[in-house]
Amino acid sequence: MNSDTIFGKIIRKEIPAQIVFEDDLCLAFRDIIPQAPVHILIIPKKAIAQIELMTPEDEVLIGHLFWVGTQVARKEGLTDGYRLVINNGKQGGQTVYHLHIHLLGGRSLGWPPG
Ligand code: 5GP
Repeated sequence: MNSDTIFGKIIRKEIPAQIVFEDDLCLAFRDIIPQAPVHILIIPKKAIAQIELMTPEDEVLIGHLFWVGTQVARKEGLTDGYRLVINNGKQGGQTVYHLHIHLLGGRSLGWPPG
């Protein structure tokens, strides 16, 4: 199965992205169409298509992605709160099938989401 996506190309640095954090396990970069003053995507380097396909062996990795999200939020100065969200599948609004967490902040975010 070819699980490559645009995010695979960003991981391999084949296309540019505004990277704000990188380590052995993950990458964080600014969303190309930001929905808030701060809109950053945190993605694993491992190609997991969507959160519903995570396995027990991914538990620590997914926790790490959220940890990185909190640290990036701090670095971005989001002291009044922010949102870390995962869209899963068609009705969840997922468009890129490489697992990613959205970090959204810098404005008041509505609830419920659209
Ligand atoms: P989803 O809808 O799958 O939860 O989120 C995918 C996100 O990826 C969208 O917010 C979209 O703007 C972003 N995106 C899609 N293609 C690119 C790209 O080539 N570069 C960057 N930086 N973001 C992208």
